[in-house]
Amino acid sequence: MDFAPSPRTQEILSAIDRFIKAELYPRERELGEKGFYKMEPELARLRSKVKEMGYWAPQLPVELGGMGLNLVEHSLIGSALGRSPLGHYVFGCAAPDAGNCEILHKHASDEQKRRFLVPLAAGEIRSCFSMTEPEHAGSNPTVLSCTAKLDNGDWVIEGHKWFTSSADGAAFAIVMAVTDPEAPPHLRASQIIVPTSTPGFERVRNIPIMGSRGEGWTSHAEIRYNGCRVPADHLLGPRGAGFLIAQERLGPGRIHHCSRWLGICERAFDMMCRRAAEREISDGKTLATKQIVQAWIAESRARIDAARLLVLNTAWLIDQKGFAEARDQVSLIKFHVAEVMQEVVDRAIQVHGALGITDDTVLAMYWAHERGARIYDGPDEVHKVVVAKRILGRYGVKQ
Ligand SMILES: Cc1cc2nc3c(=O)[nH]c(=O)nc-3n(C[C@H](O)[C@H](O)[C@H](O)COP(=O)(O)OP(=O)(O)OC[C@H]3O[C@@H](n4cnc5c(N)ncnc54)[C@H](O)[C@@H]3O)c2cc1C
Repeated sequence: MDFAPSPRTQEILSAIDRFIKAELYPRERELGEKGFYKMEPELARLRSKVKEMGYWAPQLPVELGGMGLNLVEHSLIGSALGRSPLGHYVFGCAAPDAGNCEILHKHASDEQKRRFLVPLAAGEIRSCFSMTEPEHAGSNPTVLSCTAKLDNGDWVIEGHKWFTSSADGAAFAIVMAVTDPEAPPHLRASQIIVPTSTPGFERVRNIPIMGSRGEGWTSHAEIRYNGCRVPADHLLGPRGAGFLIAQERLGPGRIHHCSRWLGICERAFDMMCRRAAEREISDGKTLATKQIVQAWIAESRARIDAARLLVLNTAWLIDQKGFAEARDQVSLIKFHVAEVMQEVVDRAIQVHGALGITDDTVLAMYWAHERGARIYDGPDEVHKVVVAKRILGRYGVKQ
């Protein structure tokens, strides 16, 4: 396998690099200080520029206005965009919309596509994915209390969700609800599209995360579905296939996340090296002369490069053989890259000293907002257990 970017991809990567440095880095602090809504018009202007450049939605097929890249190419670009917290949003490939576009593209009816997918793919509206419930372990999403019952041709949804990312300001939610309680656990739930304007859709609050409630795209909401009534044709995909579709959403989604985290690693690494080279500790000696810092730099470089190869290899395997053949690798990258990112960001903060925990650099935002990486889309431990069981199964171990 050859992961060298093609001349076309290299050209895109160079253009993205210039765009991020010129347009995104200078605006990152504003996002923290002003909040998402005050920044939204400016972000919309930047999105228009990206569309003019032809780089909108690298993960989407061309017929949906995207770039139609394969996963390896998308991973290279996702990693470049990850160097700024604004990158994925401005280029139209941010969670949760990217994942929702993918499942709508695959499972939505023509009418659902017209009404929900087309404006979502164009970045005209936002969406959210509402699965996790405070009352149950999200790491085992076959256990849900939220129900959807058919009544006079409508689904009536009752449920309590939380960590519905970006629900604030979203036009619709894709809700996981139990439609078939008597079915086997993996076939009990379905996915249903619920416009957030539906009576009974109650956004209780944006949950405060490490000191910040966020707003709009940068928030995570607690939601109550109080007898929300939507037409029967708002079912997404087959009845009872909610869990299966959620799994499908997570496969490429993990490549997207891991690529973004690699971008964060590169940004933090670059900042660590710059600070080490500039910060004078004594008599003209900088932090870069200290062996302990040199060791952090060498170890971080090795860990990031190894993580990148793991991610590219996984993307390549999915491109070539499909997700089922790459299940082990997808689990491996999910916990490994999240751990590497946390370690590299932590070291970068340490090298910056007190400055590292201020909001004067992007590092504190990364620390606060990316800790969740080891929890969402399957906590570290779940992926480790899953992979280990599959490996041990090949040694005859039955669990
Ligand atoms: C930033 C962020 C964004 C999110 N966005 C969304 C979203 O948009 N939509 C949505 O529906 N959900 C979202 N979530 C929720 C996320 O999917 C859940 O938090 C996740 O599935 C874990 O569920 P839980 O929080 O209930 O933890 P639990 O399931 O209660 O697990 C707690 C801990 O137990 C350990 N653990 C769990 N299972 C095992 C096991 N089998 N073996 C060993 N240890 C185990 C792990 O350490 C885990 O962290 C988001 C979460 C975060 C942090």
